[in-house]
Amino acid sequence: MVTNIRPDEISSIIRKQIEGYAPEAEAANTGTVPQVGDGIARIYGLNEVMAGELVESEDGTAGIASNLESDNAGAVLMGDGLTIQEGSFVKATGKIAQIPVSESFLGRVVNALAQPIDGKGQVPASESRLVESPAPGIISRRSVYEPMQTGPIAIDSMIPIGRGQREPTIGDRQTGKTAVATDTILNQRGQNVICVYVAIGQKASSVAQVVNTFEDRGAMEYTIVVSETADSPATLQYPAPYTGAALAEYFMYRKQHTSITYDDLSKQAQAYRQMSLLSRRPPGREAYPGDVFYLHSRLSERAAKSNAQLGEGSMTALPVVETQAGDVSAYIPTNVISITDGQIFLSADLFNAGIRPAINVGISVSRVGSAAQIKAMKQVAGKPKLELAQFAELEAFAQFASDLDKATQNQLARGQRSRELSKQSQSAPLSVEEQVATVHTGVNGYLDILKVEQVKRFLVQLREYVITNKPQFGEIVRSTKTLTEEAETYLKEAIKEYTEPFLLQKN
Ligand code: ATP
Ligand code: MG
Repeated sequence: MVTNIRPDEISSIIRKQIEGYAPEAEAANTGTVPQVGDGIARIYGLNEVMAGELVESEDGTAGIASNLESDNAGAVLMGDGLTIQEGSFVKATGKIAQIPVSESFLGRVVNALAQPIDGKGQVPASESRLVESPAPGIISRRSVYEPMQTGPIAIDSMIPIGRGQREPTIGDRQTGKTAVATDTILNQRGQNVICVYVAIGQKASSVAQVVNTFEDRGAMEYTIVVSETADSPATLQYPAPYTGAALAEYFMYRKQHTSITYDDLSKQAQAYRQMSLLSRRPPGREAYPGDVFYLHSRLSERAAKSNAQLGEGSMTALPVVETQAGDVSAYIPTNVISITDGQIFLSADLFNAGIRPAINVGISVSRVGSAAQIKAMKQVAGKPKLELAQFAELEAFAQFASDLDKATQNQLARGQRSRELSKQSQSAPLSVEEQVATVHTGVNGYLDILKVEQVKRFLVQLREYVITNKPQFGEIVRSTKTLTEEAETYLKEAIKEYTEPFLLQKN
């Protein structure tokens, strides 16, 4: 039988195949799990894993390598990891934890992994961001100069906040911290600010209530809610603020103004403490691990006012911190105070006395915000802070004195009215022109002829009167940002026209 196999052809085919041979074996960096529990897996044999690298176990549970020791690594599991067993394989992915980001996140409620939890389907996104992005450096920042109107008159007039500032709200349980935070978000309607509200370790019902308020008031249009409730594993409560920050950064670097609220960082620190103790790291003060300071400093440094090259975007950070019995010198509150630009302190005593929002003006400060106040507000709000602080002292003293001289009596009377003026209902933020009108009325003594208990009602009605009958006042203040003589005249007219009929009202 004749065969026409030619040896040279065969050898050329073989040669070609050898040339084109590419070994396809993939080297995966894997290890095995000797121990798993409480959301922490210990992994042996996973060499060269990076700190913060995403790892994936056989059952698909993702984790983040966090504790790198000489012969093993600890991974924080982003899920329950119930099917991970002793001896399970874990693979390093070579990626640092990332989340998807896009404009479509606006109006959505997501978890710490940026997955939707509002039942409205997937969030389309083509980009992603590192959960732990580095903070912008010194050169890419500029100083804070634009106002961030929060809505509560006591804050905007006496403890003003600027866009790009970091201002924590600190107070005991149930003192209205969340109310201040959510009012600030409600007040951003039409202000061109994108808000991110991060709820950490709260009751699911409380978060639902906040989301409902946002929806009712049309605030969801410009807001993203990131939520890990009290029943979420600590390993998911801990990264929630960083996820929120990554979402806000996406907008900041696209030249937009953003604000981010962390409600609250005490619970996040507790989640981190739990994780650290489970990873067997040595406990320090209040059993927090040694790096708990870095936990919040790296977060707060991500807030910034970008310079002109970066497009002038901003990220205002408004963390909430819970205290025990008003103790601001506890570990977490002092840490947070030391790395932010002031604090708004809410006092349980004021709250219980019916002074709400319960802002203790004496010990609340804003270190950079006054540069950002509009001129009209500066014109009227120079005095009230000092007056209120003096009044609080005087009031305590006056309880012992039987007859006071006329000047002291006047000061007390004015103080009582100023305090009344700063009371404000929840979910009723005031625009800056309404605030200017209110403070102007107070500091110029127009409230002195009223009884203290009439003040709040008078001011509410006066503001309505100005809006409907003297719209020019608001227009001038909005456009010139100044309380011009003309605007002042309109306001004086309104006060004069309104006071008489008010005094004739029954009750
Ligand atoms: P927690 O420590 O539980 O998180 P919190 O400090 O966040 O509490 P809030 O939940 O904001 O406090 O408020 C506590 C209660 O006080 C709520 O019932 C709220 O409706 C009420 N409240 C808050 N602010 C005001 C206000 N300005 N006027 C009237 N009621 C208010
Ligand atoms: Mg709260």
